[in-house]
Amino acid sequence: MSPIVASATRDRLRIAIQKSGRLAEPARALLSACGLSWRESRDKLFCYGESLPVDLLLVRDDDIPGLIADGVCDFGVVGRNELNEQAAARARFGLSDAYREMHALGFGGCRLMLAIPETWDWQGPAQLEGMRIATSYPAILSDWLEKQGVRASVVELSGSVEIAPKLGTADLICDLVSSGATLLANQLKPVETLLESEAVLAGPARELEDQRADLAAMLLRRMEGVLKLKDSKLLMFRADRDTVPALLRLLPDADPPTYLAAETGGPLSLQTMCHGLVTWQRLEELERAGAQGLMVLSVERSLA
Ligand code: ATP
Ligand code: ZN
Repeated sequence: MSPIVASATRDRLRIAIQKSGRLAEPARALLSACGLSWRESRDKLFCYGESLPVDLLLVRDDDIPGLIADGVCDFGVVGRNELNEQAAARARFGLSDAYREMHALGFGGCRLMLAIPETWDWQGPAQLEGMRIATSYPAILSDWLEKQGVRASVVELSGSVEIAPKLGTADLICDLVSSGATLLANQLKPVETLLESEAVLAGPARELEDQRADLAAMLLRRMEGVLKLKDSKLLMFRADRDTVPALLRLLPDADPPTYLAAETGGPLSLQTMCHGLVTWQRLEELERAGAQGLMVLSVERSLA
């Protein structure tokens, strides 16, 4: 097994993902769908790539941007919140960019939001003047406050930010919100969004130049193929010729259809890959517009 060291030239790619937590499973599933498989090491921190020379490093999400900056890993799957926080902190220290977002991955969606006690009336950012705001995202919050022209103090906490107002250590918070249930349980309400976040593929600010470059390009191509098909469905239906234009207008997010077995005079058989969400409502609309015998098939993966 290769030692876990940074090196200017390596012929294997190394990708950091979260060891456990919200992004761990979806990150692995995405990389598996790209055709990667691994042999796990005994300590489960390093997984040796078997199908391709692409190894995994299993770490805390907070460490991922730093591992890329130091060249220990080439890529990482991390929340945009974490990546932007560390980038903003570097910028505040006058350091240059060390990593960049290569691709949004469509899972781990959440928002970085300001939340105030539910008894307050929200009158806008000016209301924050002189207040104490608890957060695990001090650099993003400080940048935002500066942009708003507001002076407030940032209380940095590494966890349990939502109880800070109750404990009296802060007046309000700036934290990640997905369902909003945690805020509600702590009598807080969200009022401003600082960042729309999701898991992203992070890579080095500079292009890879050695053998890893081709491997990285192939992996990105595969990832794009997998992501494009994630919500895609293959639709098959029959339709009378004169209803086809109206039906295709209902499918602006679908590929140009393939026409199958068009019998003279009879209905056409169509199949098309739809890349948007296919809901019951859409299917009913298609039926009303003349689609007959609608079939919806899931698509697992494509060789992009
Ligand atoms: P680690 O042990 O790796 O440091 P963690 O506790 O920091 O784990 P998780 O709670 O697993 O991390 O969250 C990882 C990422 O999941 C977050 O950085 C964020 O991008 C995303 N996420 C999605 N929804 C939420 C949410 N409701 N709260 C927190 N993070 C969320
Ligand atoms: Zn973390």
